[in-house]
Formats: sequence, structure tokens, C-alpha cells
Amino acid sequence: SPEVSAFNLRISCEISFKLFHKRSNETDPLSPETLQEVSARLRKDLLRGLGKHSHHKAPVKMLPTFVRATPDGTEKGDFLALDLGGTNFRVLHVRVEEEAQKVLKMDSQICAIPQEMMLGTGEQLFDHIATCLGDFLESHNLKCQTLPLGFTFSFPCEQLEIDKSILIRWTKGFNCSGVEGKDVVQLLKEAIQRTGDYHIGSVAMVNDTVGTMMSCGYKDQSCEIGMIIGTGTNACYMEEIKNVKRIEGEDGRMCINTEWGGFGDDGSLDDILTEFDVEVDKTSINPGVHIFEKMISGMYLGEIVRLVLVKMTKDKLLFKGQISEALGTSGRFETKFISEIEDGLENAKKILTELGLDWGLVDASVVCLVCDTISSRSAYLCAAALATLVNRIRNNRKLDHLKTTVGVDGTVYRKHPTFSSKLQKAVRLLAPQCDITFLVSEDGSGKGAAMVTAVAQRLAHQSRL
Ligand code: BGC
Ligand code: MG
Repeated sequence: SPEVSAFNLRISCEISFKLFHKRSNETDPLSPETLQEVSARLRKDLLRGLGKHSHHKAPVKMLPTFVRATPDGTEKGDFLALDLGGTNFRVLHVRVEEEAQKVLKMDSQICAIPQEMMLGTGEQLFDHIATCLGDFLESHNLKCQTLPLGFTFSFPCEQLEIDKSILIRWTKGFNCSGVEGKDVVQLLKEAIQRTGDYHIGSVAMVNDTVGTMMSCGYKDQSCEIGMIIGTGTNACYMEEIKNVKRIEGEDGRMCINTEWGGFGDDGSLDDILTEFDVEVDKTSINPGVHIFEKMISGMYLGEIVRLVLVKMTKDKLLFKGQISEALGTSGRFETKFISEIEDGLENAKKILTELGLDWGLVDASVVCLVCDTISSRSAYLCAAALATLVNRIRNNRKLDHLKTTVGVDGTVYRKHPTFSSKLQKAVRLLAPQCDITFLVSEDGSGKGAAMVTAVAQRLAHQSRL
């Protein structure tokens, strides 16, 4: 009815106003101009991260991955893969076939990691991982083989070799003691030795962004960016080695794990943070770090929406001013609700009822608007960051026009009804000289890890010849 739409309009203005109106003379802080500004700031931060002396303090870490080549199609063999740091912990058995140009996932198993373990000791965590792997090998009759293993470990690591990788810090709700500053491969190997029960071959450490890029690279050799928008967010891309001042050498390229989630950790995004972002950061288990990630990724979006709804209810704009117990509890508004709610008003009604709220029709549509505001902001911020990367690759290669492919994965990107199209549209606007194909990776963290391991083996074999 006209009444409802008038109200919606008012609320919609109110939400945008409250969320984004921090700079006095700007009405739309996520305008193309602001996004360009965000992109320009990230461009500077990429340089700081790549610099020999500036990288120590750089918020965007730009970590070398020791992945120097994308697949060339000759890789083959059987591999194990572990995937830790996304929605689930998984163990996989993957076969890479040369002739068929195929990566086959033979089997995989999800192994739950209880919340207490995410906050317990590192030893407990790695013992659990080793046990899950052992059970998997047992039940798939693989125990007597010694297979190479790709370990997708989706946290920022200072990588010294493909199989030596120091955890810089935990993110996304993990906080196990005694792991930060240690070599994760070593911790895994020690835990496997403690089982005394089986052996593994060579190990390759892989960030999930890299796995995603590599799993797409098998199909599309112009894939040189990997992006995750899931529980956390991050991207990697192929950089010219001569620009990576920490790495010896002038020729060729190396995949750089940007860790763009840390963008803003030095305060560079303070002017676009809302009170809700500040609150989410403050109540997280890692306050002050991964500021950009906390505005974007699945671990936090639901909580941002919840805080907005609580505020609006307190201001008597929603639910007759009554906050239910569920709405008042942090973490109870799940990020997947955003996707469901934006998928249709009927879902919104169902979810509001389940949250014990006394809602009317107007409430339901306002909640849809809030979800749309928060998820759109996430998509646009990601677009700004991705535009920075593609523009950088284009400039690196002195091209007027760049054609490239981005491998993407993550629950937010995959499951939200309009996220991917908003992101793509905005990137095209912000990087008009780039022609970008988006490829949703098929299990990048599993198959991609196997690919990285396979490429590493191919290169090691070639250098022995
Ligand atoms: C981690 C990254 C990871 C991203 C997506 C972030 O929290 O720091 O290493 O790639 O999440 O999983
Ligand atoms: Mg994953």
C-alpha cells in the first residue's frame, strides 16, 4: 500500500543516514566516489605491504605464498587435503588426472570442531585434526599409502617455504593457544607422529584464496585472482616478483596473499565505520584487527544487522519497541538469515517469528531493508577492493585493457541472492578498463589444495631433472 511504501522510504533514508552519514557534507558515503577513495587507500596499502621495510607495520600484509605458477594441465596424482578455517573442517582424497584435465574429488569427510576446541590449546586442535585424518585414511583404506598432503589453512601465515608456514594470528573465531608464531606444518607433523599410526608425504600449505585461484586455473588459465567472501574475506593475485621486495629475484610472478581483511587496522577506514562496526569489533575475540573483514564477511554481517535492529527497536521504530530475548542475544541473528530474508518477505516473517518478535508487515519490510543495506555495503566494499587488484595487475603489465578471471568462493558470495551481481556491477564501474570473468570455484579449498601440491611436485620434479 502507499502507506507502507511511504514509511519504507522514510525508514530507508533513516537507515542509510544513521549508518553512513558520518562525514558532514556527504549523503551517500558508499557512492562511487567514496568507493573510489576506498580503492585508492587500499592501493597505497598494497604498496606498503609489498615494501621491504614497510611491510612489518603494514595493515594489509601482502604475504608471499611460494606459488609461482598456475597449473599447466600436466599435473597428476593422488593427494590428501585438509581444509581448516572455513565453515567446516574437512578431510579429502583428491585425484588429479592429466589426460582428462580433471580434478576429481574422490571422497571427503566433514569433521566437526567444537567451539571449546577453537578456543583451547593448539595441541588439542592438532591432535583432533590428526585423529580425523587417521579415521579418514582408515575408513577409505588409504593407511598403507604415503600420499602428499595439501593443507588449506585459511589464516594469515608468514610463509617461508611451501611447507613452512608461521601463523601470524588467528582470525574468524579461532583462538588456540601456542600456535601464533609457530610453524603450522611442524605442529601438524608432530600431532601425526603422536598418533604413531600413519605417515604422510610432502606437505604444501595453502591459503583458501590460493586454492580457489588454483582450482579455477586448472580450467581457465587466465585465472590469476582468488577471492573468498565467506566466514572471512580475503584475496590473492599473481604479482610481479620484482615488485615483491622481500623476495629475491626479478623475473616471473608469485601469488601474493593480500590478507585484505586487515585493511583499516591502522585507522584508515575510521571515517566510514558506523557505531555498529565499532561495537562488533569491540565484542569480537580479536578487537582492533581485521576491521575490513568485520564490515564484510559472514562471521559478522548477521551481528551488524542485529545491532541495527536493536537500535531501531530501542528508538521505537520497530516491533512496538519490544526487543525479544533472541534479538537481544549476540550471535543469534545468523548471517544466513540475511540471505533468506532478502530472498522474500515470507522468509522474513518466518524468521522474525522464530526470533520471538511481535512484528507487523511494516516491521518485516523494514528488516528486509536493513539486511539489504548491510549486505549491499559488504558487496560494494569488496568490489572496491577487487577493483584495486585488477587495476594493479593492469598497470603492472602496462596494458590499456586487461582481460582476466577471478576465482571466487565463500558462503556469502554463493548463497546471498543478489550479492554477486551487485559486486560484479560495482567492480565494472570501478575498473572500466578491465574485462573480468567471475568463476565460482568448485571446492577450491579441497581440490585447489591438491592442485597446489601437484604443481609444487611438478616444479620440484622439473628442477631435479
Ligand atoms: C583469513 C584469511 C582467509 C580469509 C577467508 C581471513 O580471516 O585471515 O587467511 O583467506 O579469512 O577464509
Ligand atoms: Mg573454504
